Amino acid sequence: MTKYKLEYIWLDGYTPVPNLRGKTLIKEYDSFPTLEELPDWGFDGSSTMQADGSNSDCVLKPIRVFVDPARTNGALVLCEVMLPDGTPHPTNKRATILDDDGTWFGFEQEYFFYKDGRPLGFPEHGYPEPQGKYYTGVGYKQVGSIARQIVEEHLDLCLDCGINHEGINAEVAKGQWEFQIFGKGSKKAADEMWMARYLLERLTEKYGVDIEYHCKPLGDTDWNGSGMHANFSTEYLREVGGEEYFKALMAQFEKNLEDHIAVYGPDNHMRLTGKHETAPWNKFSYGVADRGASVRVPNSFPKNGYKGYLEDRRPNSQGDPYQIASQILKTISEVPTA
Ligand code: ADP
Ligand code: MN
Ligand code: MN
Ligand code: MN
Ligand code: MN
Repeated sequence: MTKYKLEYIWLDGYTPVPNLRGKTLIKEYDSFPTLEELPDWGFDGSSTMQADGSNSDCVLKPIRVFVDPARTNGALVLCEVMLPDGTPHPTNKRATILDDDGTWFGFEQEYFFYKDGRPLGFPEHGYPEPQGKYYTGVGYKQVGSIARQIVEEHLDLCLDCGINHEGINAEVAKGQWEFQIFGKGSKKAADEMWMARYLLERLTEKYGVDIEYHCKPLGDTDWNGSGMHANFSTEYLREVGGEEYFKALMAQFEKNLEDHIAVYGPDNHMRLTGKHETAPWNKFSYGVADRGASVRVPNSFPKNGYKGYLEDRRPNSQGDPYQIASQILKTISEVPTA
């Protein structure tokens, strides 16, 4: 028997953006535990905005398990939060996803590294050279000395624990980066995005660097904000599609604009201004290869008979991928297929 360190990880009840929480349970197994072998556990919901002090027990139900690449005999146990009666806690948004393995999601997470209250690489006073050469840049002047080291270490952690990481790039602003997570099944994609965020947060503890997920940390300046573009396709979109269905789908997205914006991350009006490759938050638009539209339609989509995937560019870096996927699937479900 081996004593395993099981890190139970969940989302707390803070609004509008939940935080990652985790605590360790030591338990003996013959070999690395399967999901079925992991017990439900509990925590004090009064400390996480998930319960009153008088009746504060919440239940952690394991839903995914990964080998923890940074801990000897460690497991990362991603959980849903349940009420003691076994129903989903109101803060459990994963439970609202109408899942379907045929839905594929690719999330592009943008974020800033922050240190001493400013983006990593910014001077103590004033600004570095304006944007231009940072995006996909190389060299100390472009990316500094430790950002890439953190990014590479994070990439390895994700790949080592089996997260379907798809790539990284330095972004437009100094100190800003992106990684992409893709999953077949919206829950799978969203679970792995939260796990990748967890690994990034935990990793940067030792560097004394923060991750700033706010969508416009530098406010109303010429520095880009951060998004989390949601690329999605359903089996129907990939295999049947068609111009008529596509137009009906976009009309439904337009109709549901408010519902989408409500879950696409806080303060998005600061970012979706119509500048910096964004569309204004209150006006839905779509366009082929158009990075200034709400939804970008890849060039290949109309070429292939209106089949393939679409990119909703509005979700922001602080958005909850569970809520984003849930709303996109809800809107899709409202459009009849042939
Ligand atoms: P860009 O920066 O040009 O918008 P990225 O390469 O950063 O593009 O991200 C594109 C994302 O689209 C990737 O995460 C990829 O996994 C995802 N993607 C590609 N094909 C599909 C598909 N059929 N369904 C859903 N997502 C997809
Ligand atoms: Mn205790
Ligand atoms: Mn990208
Ligand atoms: Mn990007
Ligand atoms: Mn994109």
